[in-house]
Amino acid sequence: MARLYARQAVNVFDRIGDEDYEQVVFCHDRPSGLRAVIAVHSTRLGPGLGGTRFHPYATEDAAVEDVLRLSKGMTYKSAVAGLDLGGGKAVIIGEPRDKTEPLLRAYGRFVDSLGGRYITAEDVGTTQADMDLILRETPFVTGVSRSLGGSGDPSAATATGVLYAMRAVANVVWGDTSLEGRAVVVSGVGKVGYSLVRHLVEERAVVTVSDVSPTALDRAAADFEVSVVPPEKAHAVECDIFSPCALGGVLTPTTIAELRCAAVVGSANNQLLDAGCAGLLADAGVLYAPDYVVNAGGIINVAEELLGYDRDRADGQIRRIFDTTAAVLAAAATEGITTLAAADRMAERRLEQVGRVGLIRRGAPLPVRRR
Ligand code: NAD
Repeated sequence: MARLYARQAVNVFDRIGDEDYEQVVFCHDRPSGLRAVIAVHSTRLGPGLGGTRFHPYATEDAAVEDVLRLSKGMTYKSAVAGLDLGGGKAVIIGEPRDKTEPLLRAYGRFVDSLGGRYITAEDVGTTQADMDLILRETPFVTGVSRSLGGSGDPSAATATGVLYAMRAVANVVWGDTSLEGRAVVVSGVGKVGYSLVRHLVEERAVVTVSDVSPTALDRAAADFEVSVVPPEKAHAVECDIFSPCALGGVLTPTTIAELRCAAVVGSANNQLLDAGCAGLLADAGVLYAPDYVVNAGGIINVAEELLGYDRDRADGQIRRIFDTTAAVLAAAATEGITTLAAADRMAERRLEQVGRVGLIRRGAPLPVRRR
C-alpha cells in the first residue's frame, strides 16, 4: 500500500480539473502487456483527434503529464486550424521495438470503446503500419495506408504547411511572399525537414541544414544544393529564417540571445522552453510564428480522411495555413501581444464561439413518462 501511494505523485483529478480535461482513460491488457493512457482534453469542436506516442517513459507520472500536455495542445492546434475537431492524445508505455500485433490490437479495442470521442493517428514511436493494425479493431483511426483509404504519412503535408507559413511571414517582414534568395536554416532534416528543404530549394531559397544523424544529413546534402552546419550552431547562423524541425525546447533564454535571424518558422512541436520565451523573442526583434499554427498541415491532412480522403481538397485546406499565420501575426501587432498569445486567444475564441453552437442540440430525447 505504501508503495502504491509513493508512486502516485500526480493527483490526477486536481490536475485534470485545473485545465478542464474531459476524460482520461487508463488502458490495461495483461496478456499483451499493454499499458496506455488516452486523454481527451476537449470535444467542444468535435472528436478529439491526436496521435499515439509509444515511449518508454521513466515513470507513470511522466506518461500522464505528457499525454495531458499533448492533448491540450491538440485542442488549440485544431481550433486555430479551423477544424471541427477537439483535442486528444494517447501514450503507450514501452519500447517501440517491443510492439506486437496483440498489443496494438488491444489498444485499438480501447480506442473503439470510446465510440469516436477519441480518434487516433501516428506519432513518435508509431507508424503507418501500426495504424493499419489498429484499423482492424476500430474505424476511429487516421493516417492509415492509401490502399486502405487513408492519406498515409502526414509529414509531406506538414512540410507544405510550413512553407505556406514561411510565405506569410516573408510577406510581413519583407513585404513579399517570395522566398527566393532568402537564407533559411533548417535544423533537423528528418521526415518533415527533408520535405521542407525540397520545397525551399524549388523556391530558390539559400538553404543551410543540420542534423545529429549523419545519415539524415548525408541524404539532404546529396540530394540538394545546401550548406551544412553542426546542430549545436544551427540556431546561431546569420539568416533570414531559422526553421526548427527536430525536437522541442530549442528556444531558450540562452539560444534566443544567440539568434541572428529575422524570424522563426518551423515544424517542431513545443519549440519554446516556456511561454515566457515568446516575450524574449519579441524583445529580441525576432518574429516567431507559433509552432502549432505552422505545423498543422499534418492534422489537416489526416482530418480529411474522416470525409473520405481527397488530395486536392486536403491541399486546399493546407494552403489556408498562409491565411491563419497572417491573421495571427496581424492580431499580435494590432493587440500589442506576443504571437503566441495571439494564437492562444484565437483558439480560445473559436472554442468559445463555435463551441457554443454545440449546445444547440439536434433534438433532445423525450423525457420518459412514468405511468
Ligand atoms: P523525424 O524523427 O523524422 O525527424 C527529426 C530529425 O531531427 C531527425 O533526422 C533527427 O536526427 C533530427 N534531430 C534530432 N535531434 C536534433 C538536434 N538536436 N539537432 C538537429 N537535428 C536533430 O521527425 P519528423 O516527423 O520530421 O518531425 C519533426 C518535428 O516536427 C518533431 O518535433 C515533430 O513533433 C514535429 N511535427 C511533425 C509532424 C509530422 O507530420 N511528421 C507534424 C507536426 C509536428
